[in-house]
Amino acid sequence: MKKNRIYIFDTTLRDGEQCPGASMTLREKLEVARQLARLKVDVIEGGFPVISEGDFTSVNTIAREIKGPTIAGLARCVPKDIEAAGKAVAPAGKKGRIHVFLATSKLHREFKLGKAQSQIIKLAVDGVKRARKLVADVEFSPEDASRTEPDFLVEVCQAVVDAGATTVNIPDTVGWAVPGQFGELIGHLHDSVPEFQSGKAIISVHCHNDLGMAVANSLAAVQAGARQIECTVNGIGERAGNAALEEIVMALKRRGNKANRESLQAGGAHERPAGAAQQGDRRRERLRPLERHSSGWHHQKTRDVRDHGSAGRRLGADRVAAD
Ligand SMILES: [Zn+2]
Repeated sequence: MKKNRIYIFDTTLRDGEQCPGASMTLREKLEVARQLARLKVDVIEGGFPVISEGDFTSVNTIAREIKGPTIAGLARCVPKDIEAAGKAVAPAGKKGRIHVFLATSKLHREFKLGKAQSQIIKLAVDGVKRARKLVADVEFSPEDASRTEPDFLVEVCQAVVDAGATTVNIPDTVGWAVPGQFGELIGHLHDSVPEFQSGKAIISVHCHNDLGMAVANSLAAVQAGARQIECTVNGIGERAGNAALEEIVMALKRRGNKANRESLQAGGAHERPAGAAQQGDRRRERLRPLERHSSGWHHQKTRDVRDHGSAGRRLGADRVAAD
């Protein structure tokens, strides 16, 4: 992994699809995946293969047909999920990734899983090792990481990296974090795990927008050492949504340092995937706090964008650049 590169991980087809009313057919998912490949995102999370035949088939088809990005399949930390994800991403060969997750916060440990810290670490390590037998590229997410005790989170990160995870994703699962605090947490993890400093493994972040800070939190994390950002087209996703791909990319392009630019020379970055456009527009109208707080220019511009185009409509680049 290149030490200073920022990797863009798009989860429109997985987390984005969890937005009410945003479910897509296989054909639509393939179309979105094709457009994401044209944007040159680094990773496409195609779905959660064990959940349904439909999810398995879409991840599997995307892994077979989409060239360029890494194709990831999500899995809980249980054998049948990991096996299904491994099978689904297999056609992508070296570009296949299994993304394993397990909750680590006290709340989830005590009330959802009924497990002690040591049991959580063992499960996480076993899951990562199982996934590594199937693919070389394994991502681990400690669910509800932003509400997990920081020192326990360090232990989890070190254990899964030792077990072979190459990316450790720190999700702000319930959209609870604020930039200063989240940046501090990422900095603490970065300083505590030597592999994050050497680049042998990288920190990823996955932020939700319940307090309208998904993008700000993601950028604070990058400043503190994170090297992958998980996001969705137009920020669609669970509840108030995820960090918006177009805002992240343009913020890094306009305001990032030179080292970050490598991942941002996206040939079609001014376009957006047509299949996600309608849902994204609706979502933006209803739930994006920044849009509602805008002085009017943003609203006007967004309407202009929506009203004058189809598959190749502007992503929002003008809007970010003008701020
Ligand atoms: Zn999420």
